[in-house]
Amino acid sequence: MMNIDRILLDLEKRNPGEKEFMQAVREVLESIEDVYNENQHFEALNIIERLVEPDRVLSFKVPWTDDEGKIHVNRGYRVQFNNAIGPYKGGLRFHPSLNLSILKFLAFEQVFKNSLTSLPMGGAKGGSDFDPKGKSSAEIMRFCQSFMLELWKLIGPDMDVPAGDIGVGMKEIGYLYGMYKKLSGNHNGVLTGKGINWGGSAIRPEATGYGVVYFITEMLRMRGDSIEGKRIAISGFGNVAWGVAKKATELGAKIITISGPDGYIYDSQGVSGDKIDYMLELRISNDDIVKPYSYEFTEVEYNPNKKPWEEPCDIAIPCAIQNEMDEADAERLIKNGCSYVCEAANMPCTRGAIDLFRKSGIIFAPSKAVNAGGVSASGLEMSQNAMKYSWTPEEVDKKLHQIMKNIHSTCVKYGTQTDGSVDYVKGANIAGFLKVANAMVDQGVI
Ligand code: GLU
Repeated sequence: MMNIDRILLDLEKRNPGEKEFMQAVREVLESIEDVYNENQHFEALNIIERLVEPDRVLSFKVPWTDDEGKIHVNRGYRVQFNNAIGPYKGGLRFHPSLNLSILKFLAFEQVFKNSLTSLPMGGAKGGSDFDPKGKSSAEIMRFCQSFMLELWKLIGPDMDVPAGDIGVGMKEIGYLYGMYKKLSGNHNGVLTGKGINWGGSAIRPEATGYGVVYFITEMLRMRGDSIEGKRIAISGFGNVAWGVAKKATELGAKIITISGPDGYIYDSQGVSGDKIDYMLELRISNDDIVKPYSYEFTEVEYNPNKKPWEEPCDIAIPCAIQNEMDEADAERLIKNGCSYVCEAANMPCTRGAIDLFRKSGIIFAPSKAVNAGGVSASGLEMSQNAMKYSWTPEEVDKKLHQIMKNIHSTCVKYGTQTDGSVDYVKGANIAGFLKVANAMVDQGVI
């Protein structure tokens, strides 16, 4: 029988202070406990202990020179967590807050997320505590090249396929890929999120946000509802928020907020049309996002140092970073009549917030299901690279849409409770776990 407290205690001893990693593991274990206990061979094969230990954790020095000639050293990482169902796959994050606990939580989550996509991808994550903010393109290039000087030994199209995440967009992928190509002599597409003219896939930039909206439309459809006319509060201003704003607006919803480190804006007219494109410009040129937006579009309300969850909305979509939505935010959303909370960033809601959503009857969907569209499009990029062929945007979008519909129905299949309600957290975790665990059983103790 699974003893969650004992497993977590052991894990805590071996990984002291890794609170994000523990948070992610606890959520999965609590969800899969019953299924695990029903399948006794999992216990006999010690599947849990094998599942919570990453296959490999690599850390390396990344020295680079700034434009003034000063030399800096950052730390680079790659956590290859589990490759039971396919090559390691997952993004690279460049952010000053990055540490091993965050990377292990992200890589662990990626194992189950990738399993849910139905594509053959294992789970990994990597990155650096390098902060790309305020750096020149030449500095970013030198950093990426130095980073790849170490990483290229660890990756390959059938071994490990990195991509972007926070702080790593197409520009960084370009510099990383260029150096990989030079070192290995291979143009084999080993990174995803590449430029469209050099092996990238159509719809990859939009895919995470589009996937989020496709998942939500399924949730609503199942309940006889639709996204049209819904007021949606989102946080963040990056690639995910942009994709959500684009697709949700196209389908007739109104995006009423976006946010940055400096606060949030409330836009009563909705973030639509030119304003969505303006988000892209802000991302490239500014650290402060919200203030410039409020100067550009005068009808909006600028709320410095506050979070968007203060605004009454029908759907809340945190798109920024882990643990950005806490109990106080959850209480506000509940009080203001929000009906759905869907995680578009990785694990943006704290455990306390999720418990409150459950108690209040808010329908909550977890990131490993909701934001799986990004890595799904990456998987489709890998397929196109392997075939040396490209699909049209319509073809990729159709496949992405189908994948998100499947993920939703899989969550419903495994998450439907005796009272008929759907526990999306359970559904996503059980489905993601079973596929990986069964592959581990088939492949023996390795
Ligand atoms: N970083 C994204 C995620 O969290 C995408 C990963 C990928 O495309 O490999 O899923």
